[in-house]
Amino acid sequence: MGKAVILDISPNGSRDLGPLEQRIDQVAGWPALRDCNVLMIYPRFQANNFWNYAETCKLIGAKCPTAPLGLITVAAMLPANWNVRLVNRNSEDVRDEDFAWADMVMTGGMFNQQLDALRLIALAHQHGKPAVVGGPDATSSPHIYEAADFRVLGEVEDVIARFIAAWNAGERGGCFTAEKFQVDITTTPAPRFDLLKFDQYMYIGLQYSRGCPFTCEFCDIIELYGRVPRTKTPPQMLAELRRLYDLGYRGHVDFVDDNLIGNRKSLRIFLPELIAWQEALDYPFEFSTEASVNLADDHDLLQLMRKANFFALFVGIESPDPETLVHTRKKQNTRRNLAESIHRLYGAGMYVTAGFIVGFDTEKVSVADAMVDLIEEAAIPAAMVGLLWALPNTQLTRRLEKEGRLQADYDRWTDESGDQCALSLNFNSLRPERDILLDYRRILERVYDPAAYARRLTRLASKLDCPGRAAALAEGNRQRNVPMLELVSSIFRRIPEARDEFWNVLRDCRQSNPAALRFIVGLMALYVHLGPFSRFVIAEIDRRIGAIDQAVQPAAVGRGELTATSA
Ligand code: SF4
Repeated sequence: MGKAVILDISPNGSRDLGPLEQRIDQVAGWPALRDCNVLMIYPRFQANNFWNYAETCKLIGAKCPTAPLGLITVAAMLPANWNVRLVNRNSEDVRDEDFAWADMVMTGGMFNQQLDALRLIALAHQHGKPAVVGGPDATSSPHIYEAADFRVLGEVEDVIARFIAAWNAGERGGCFTAEKFQVDITTTPAPRFDLLKFDQYMYIGLQYSRGCPFTCEFCDIIELYGRVPRTKTPPQMLAELRRLYDLGYRGHVDFVDDNLIGNRKSLRIFLPELIAWQEALDYPFEFSTEASVNLADDHDLLQLMRKANFFALFVGIESPDPETLVHTRKKQNTRRNLAESIHRLYGAGMYVTAGFIVGFDTEKVSVADAMVDLIEEAAIPAAMVGLLWALPNTQLTRRLEKEGRLQADYDRWTDESGDQCALSLNFNSLRPERDILLDYRRILERVYDPAAYARRLTRLASKLDCPGRAAALAEGNRQRNVPMLELVSSIFRRIPEARDEFWNVLRDCRQSNPAALRFIVGLMALYVHLGPFSRFVIAEIDRRIGAIDQAVQPAAVGRGELTATSA
């Protein structure tokens, strides 16, 4: 094909049009594209959410953890003469004048943004503007978003041109569904990072791959993106990073991939180029990502990630029980010592945040103790322990439906108060729900006790092998604006109950592994959110256990079972 067309997209500069954008700007037979003002609004996540870290964000002057990568990626696919205004409801309000300016409102997000996304569709209509919805929740549960004028479902690259053509032809409603897993993401344009206000965020996300080769029963990623991971090219990724760099961003970049090592062959080609790029620019970025635990078996890949400046990983461990792991098809976590695998990741300089789930069918009474023991042994300070939730569009949901155990409206968010840590189960469990809740409560109480959290920090500090580069913060990294001592005293002010234990951790870490100190302080900052959040969830669990007991008691009295205690 001929030379790339150059097109101005923002006051910040110009860019080359990729193949996808060329398609959009050159579809034969379209009437000339009319100007259009697009108001993109990222819905608010549920408050009291494990991931919102609101109190932690405040410590470094940020407003929320991360930026809406999906929306700024869509923004990059819109015609050049369409104007985009982005509002992130997690960090700012949308104003009447934003709606007045807009020709259309685009929104959409994940399941725990559903309530606000629906609110935004209604708000758009109140202002007389058509609403366009997309994203994972609308793709998995399109019926919930019927109020939207347009639904753009699945991977947007496959349908955006059809949507734009329909809009340009004067249509004001429709549903466009992408064919599954067909998108060649090597043609996906770089996200419109220029739309972001970097100072609102703790970190910025990038996407390298889509899809995961595994088969976990509860997971919707493999339904949304498939089991054959597709990756972007190294030049494409370096161009995205360069764009961020040129816009002045420095510091934490998160690869949002659900499993970065899904396509290891490609990753092994990309990482050396990333390392060279980082070295040439004196390491402007440090990276986190999500990966399956079998990364621990790949010494070479771990060393490449270390050299590229990866410092944190999210790993799905889910359960300490091998039978449960097999049953939920998380076989990659079986036949291994999970704690040792996590320690190997620490040995490569990356600390681990891990996901755990309570409520599987095969679980036994002993799960609470075994889960706490594993979290302690692995030395994982921030363990995201949640209740099993049957997400729409998963193998689990299909099985539960077949077994007649899925609750009505299982995919509709009805509670304003929290995330799935605090919601009721949305299916009928095999174990009594009360037992599951008691186990869950016990785990949270023990894991988020300040002394237990401090013990895990100390053990992590003794295992995290991160000398050299990882200890330094790039010039321009916002965390440099908050001196460590100031940060520590803000942490202690907010969680006085943990002050003594945390102080001891800092003293030990400073002596034994000073390079790990800032990561340990970062995890203490996380406790400013996690400590109070765990207490909120425990109070919710108590309320639910109370409701279960109250519902049982009158029935039992009616059968005469409780007459002795009543008397
Ligand atoms: S490893 Fe993670 S992304 Fe892959 S199928 Fe399992 S839960 Fe989903």
